[in-house]
Amino acid sequence: MESLKRELIKYAKKLNNSNLSPLRSGNISVRYNSDNKFGFLITPSGVKYNNLKESQIVFLEMDESLNDRKIQKEKLNPSSEWRFHQDIYLNKPDAFAIVHAHSPHATAVSAHGKDIPAFHYMIALAGGNDIKCAKYATFGTKELSQNIIKALDDRKGCLMSNHGQVAFGKNLDQAFELAQEIENICHQYINTIKLGNPKILSFEEMNKILEKTKNYKKN
Ligand code: 13P
Ligand code: ZN
Repeated sequence: MESLKRELIKYAKKLNNSNLSPLRSGNISVRYNSDNKFGFLITPSGVKYNNLKESQIVFLEMDESLNDRKIQKEKLNPSSEWRFHQDIYLNKPDAFAIVHAHSPHATAVSAHGKDIPAFHYMIALAGGNDIKCAKYATFGTKELSQNIIKALDDRKGCLMSNHGQVAFGKNLDQAFELAQEIENICHQYINTIKLGNPKILSFEEMNKILEKTKNYKKN
């Protein structure tokens, strides 16, 4: 567990040092299934990533009856967004790590509360022919979590209205990379719509791309 905590801290610091999330915004988690424990490790709430210590990383069991009262009683301090991290792990068997970020361009696009259409074929990286925007709900709520699960239907990443973005992957590196790709796509989208209405790729073309990207080898 300790080495996975160190890995999580490495990526939490990367959130600050890349363009993804300044100071203490956003959060990261990774599945942990060993030593008879089934759950996930998650960054603590309200701690600046540069000061993060292994002892502050929280292990939460995959327990559907978990609630904030239980968490308080056990004096744990997981990210306020532990619900959507848990719900993503419960709903997506291929999710092993999750990155939530208030990255500047994704957050700007999310404030319009709209899905991003296929203005670029790289949209396919998130798993479909658009990137959905989860409906707004207060941070840390079950409602937000439910809205995110809906927006992640057949997808590995989505925007969160008036908030930011979330991405998952088979490991921390993949989840982090997808969050960076989504941020880049949002930057491009902002520039694109400044020039007027873009041409949107057809379903047929996007289905071809989705098929092709399945076999795309990454080094
Ligand atoms: P936490 O510090 O509780 O993880 O909150 C940060 C955040 O991004 C809430 O959405
Ligand atoms: Zn957030």
